[in-house]
Parts: sequence; C-alpha cells; structure tokens
Amino acid sequence: MSFSALGLRAELLLAVGEQGYTEPTPIQAQAIPAVLAGRDLMGGAQTGTGKTAGFVLPILQRLAEQQGGTHSRTQVRALILVPTRELAAQVQASVFTYGKHLPKIRSLSVYGGVGFHPQVQALKRGIDILVATPGRLLDHLSQRTVDLSKVQVLVLDEADRMLDMGFIPDIRKILAYIPKQRQNLLFSATFSDEIKKLADGFMKDPLLVEVARRNATAELIAQRICPVDREKKKDLLAHLITTGDWKQVLVFTRTKHGANNLAEKLVKSGIRADAIHGNKSQPARTRALAEFKAGKIKVLVATDIAARGLDIDELPHVVNFELPHVANDYVHRIGRTGRAGSTGEAVSLVCVDELGLLRDIERLIKREIKKDIVPGFEVDPRIRAEPIVQGKRGGQQQRRPSNSARKPAGNRGQNAPRQPAARAGGRNSRDSGRRAFSY
Ligand code: AMP
Repeated sequence: MSFSALGLRAELLLAVGEQGYTEPTPIQAQAIPAVLAGRDLMGGAQTGTGKTAGFVLPILQRLAEQQGGTHSRTQVRALILVPTRELAAQVQASVFTYGKHLPKIRSLSVYGGVGFHPQVQALKRGIDILVATPGRLLDHLSQRTVDLSKVQVLVLDEADRMLDMGFIPDIRKILAYIPKQRQNLLFSATFSDEIKKLADGFMKDPLLVEVARRNATAELIAQRICPVDREKKKDLLAHLITTGDWKQVLVFTRTKHGANNLAEKLVKSGIRADAIHGNKSQPARTRALAEFKAGKIKVLVATDIAARGLDIDELPHVVNFELPHVANDYVHRIGRTGRAGSTGEAVSLVCVDELGLLRDIERLIKREIKKDIVPGFEVDPRIRAEPIVQGKRGGQQQRRPSNSARKPAGNRGQNAPRQPAARAGGRNSRDSGRRAFSY
C-alpha cells in the first residue's frame, strides 16, 4: 500500500516522501483513514511502530482543510498530551516536519523544566497544534495563558505511561477545559482495565486498532544475554563497546545514581558518555540527547523514566546494564532499537542477582533469550545471589549487604529494616543466597 492511497494531501505526501518513507506502517494504514473520517480511535501501538505519523498526518490534513474557519488565531485546535518532555519535543518536531509544506499551521510544545514566559509569548502569537505534558499545561491553564475552548482533536499519547506516572487526575482536570464535542485519539502500548476505564469515560464509539506488540514481533531486534559477575559489568560494557566498535549505544540503569556513576566510569575509560535522568536540568537533558543524536557522545546512560519516548532513529545498540524490575519495561527498553524497519541489537548484562528478573522477562516475551558468554568475563560460580531491594525514595534501589542477605531472618538485629520481597534468584528473600535458577 502507498501513502497516496490513504487520502492524504499532496503537501503531506511530499513531506512523507522527504522522510524516505515508502509505505505506511500497519498502524498508519489503519489509523490515517479513520482519523481523516473524524472517528475516535484507540490505537494499541508502542513507540517504534510509526504511531506518531499515524495521528499527526491526518490531524494536519483536517486542520489545513479548515483554514479560515471561525477559530481565532490564539485558539488551539488540536491538543496532544504526552507523558515526558522529550516526547513532547519529538512529537512537535514531527508535526513541524510533516506539516512543513502546509501553509500556516503553527505548533508548539510546552513542558516543565524550561522557562514559562517564552511559552506564554509563543501561545500569544497563536498556536494550532499544542503538544504538552499535563503538569505544565495545567500551569498555563491556571494562569489563563492558553485557550483550549476551541480544541477539536484531543490526543492522549502513551496513555499507559501517563497512567504509570500518575497523570490521570491532571488529564481529567484538563478535559474540563476543552469542548465535549471533539475527536478523541488515544494511543497506548497496553490496554489495561484502567486505560479502558479512562477511555470509556470520554471516547465515543472508538475504532480499536491494534498492531502487533514488540514483544510478539521482536524479529528485528537481536537479543542476547551476557552472563557476568556484578562487579565486572562496567568492564564488560566498556569491552563490548570497544571491541564491537559501537558508535551509538543507549544503556539502561535502574537508578539515577547508577546512571551517573556508569557514565563517569566510561568517560574515565576513554569512552564519550553522558547520563540522562530526572535529576538533571532540562537543558542538560536536551543537550545530552542532542549530542548523542549528533554522534558527539557514544553512550547515553538513562533511567527508564528519562528514556520514555526517546526517538532516536535506527539506534543500533541498547544495553540493559541492569534488568528492569518490571518485565514490561524490558520490552519498552529494547523497543528503542530495531525501530520501524531497521535492525538493532539489545544486550543485557545479567548477574546472578537478576536471574529471577530474567525468568520473568522470558516468560513475558515467550522465548528464551540467547546466552553469550564473553571470553574473560565468565561468571564465578562461587558468587551467590544478593537480593536487590527497593529503596525508600523515588524508586532508588540498592543491594542489601551480602552478610545480612545470608543471615537467616531470625538472626538479624531488632533494628534491621524490613525489606520488601526481594527479586533475586526467586520471588522472595527466602531465595537469597540460593541459586534458584541458572543462566
Ligand atoms: P514512532 O512510533 O511514531 O515513535 O515512530 C518511530 C520511527 O519510525 C520514527 O523514527 C519515524 O521517523 C519512523 N517512521 C514513521 N513512519 C514510518 C514509515 N512509514 N516508514 C519508515 N519509517 C517510519
């Protein structure tokens, strides 16, 4: 199928051609005609499926067709809500790219961590398509610096992420500012009961379009596990990057501290690296991402939250320096590579503490991941599992010191902290120190 068969205008076809897209992805083929026809739509699609163009192209077309309508210049006509700042910037960049041959469609992204006033000035000049994170948009609404009373199309992008990040109450508040009569589009990697409940509350007879999830169709991503002792992970990563002559690699750690630490260590070994996480200022995050995309830094070390929505074309390597606690995050992480038709590689460095997490992931993706022992980094069978425990603040995690991990529960001091169920080598801390699984 070609893009021209979808009923898009010549200006949009030209922009799509300039991007080198020869045919629509499955989500685009289904979503574009439905959105053009004005239908509500629930799209089951993850980042990497081409979903952004799936909603941006038909929205641009619909707005272009009503130029000179009754709205005033300063009234937003399409509102796209996204969970993260990076995704806001990327979606707005797509709006700009796909709409560049259309006359007079203005777009803006507003998100926190950057100046409020420049956003106010841009909103005053007039915006047709606004891409926003919920918190900053609510700030604008409370200051009356944005007018949403003429919004015709609402998009909730990565709705499952917004739910995870606790944005649903904010979204409900925002809904009160926009007309009830409008088109609604919701995209989500998963349709949990909570997402369905949210959708039921505001969508009208939505068309349900689902494209194969990445965990079912990961053929484009070569996945492998490198078993390694926990203390040797940094050296193994540096070894893989150097010997494989990797030019661009996104590395995931569980904690912000771990991300900083690893980036520093890589820099010390002569590998250009930087970290991106929630404690970094927005300009620092933007700069790190830009330098990574431009090839000025080779390695970007990121936490899950910071990496959500990052769109880096044809990223060749993703490394799980540590496996995520939630198996689904593995799928999101590796989805950063092998995007929309290109191939990629996802390598997970797995130490004995993480065998339980590995088992959960393999169960989710319904396949065993190939094991690849790197010569010189063979695991020491004498090293026992230590539980990885969730810390008190903000999802920080730490390893319990090995001596306490090995003591039977009754021998621990009165003041020993109660630990939540640990996930090393098994489902709970009783499995600690015992090898419940092997690589
Ligand atoms: P998304 O899922 O919207 O984040 O898009 C993922 C990537 O796919 C982006 O880098 C797009 O530039 C790219 N892309 C979108 N549509 C197509 C297409 N029809 N053919 C090839 N690549 C595409």
